[in-house]
Amino acid sequence: MSDRPYSICVYCGSRPGTRPGYAELATNLGRSIARRGWQLVYGGGRAGLMGLVAEAALSHGARVVGVIPQSLMRLEVGHAGLTELHVVDTMHQRKQLMAERSDAFIAMPGGIGTFEELFEVWTWRHLGYHQRPIGLLDAEGYWSPMVGFLEHACAEGFMDAQQMAMLKIDDNVERLLDSMVAGPDAGGTAEGFARI
Ligand code: AMP
Repeated sequence: MSDRPYSICVYCGSRPGTRPGYAELATNLGRSIARRGWQLVYGGGRAGLMGLVAEAALSHGARVVGVIPQSLMRLEVGHAGLTELHVVDTMHQRKQLMAERSDAFIAMPGGIGTFEELFEVWTWRHLGYHQRPIGLLDAEGYWSPMVGFLEHACAEGFMDAQQMAMLKIDDNVERLLDSMVAGPDAGGTAEGFARI
């Protein structure tokens, strides 16, 4: 077993959202990751919920790994104070590296970037490229309409209960983080990520 810290990849909005509860939960998540002695892996930006999770994790002593493509770095949105900042050429390289460096994945509220990251890592799990836990932090009931739609997709025969069971959904940070290291699908190793 490696002695590197357990790494959680957090996908979340580059905007703060309208409700204060989103920012609060982002800060709680970053702090809890640090208090557990875990490492945060994220998109490397300073803006929105991304910046808040990273700041909270850093200020409570966590290692924070950011992975950002050159194009976003040029827009000066990269976070300069991270433990590691990897500047890569393409969005595909970025998502691959973020996934390779992570033992589990959590999506906080966010927009199309967050959706894309969540659905990609979920699809990779469904296809067997990895076995790592995936969590949805349902702050302020943000994800509920999407979960309703996903259930509709199951009812219509385009998805199934096994796929749904790959997502752990919770509005509580500690419970969700606990579920990332408990149960049959927890504790995958980042080294085991298959190349796509
Ligand atoms: P969105 O949900 O559309 O705000 O996109 C946020 C997600 O996409 C994050 O998890 C990031 O990985 C990536 N992303 C989008 N915008 C940025 C940005 N300005 N800086 C860094 N990463 C970003």
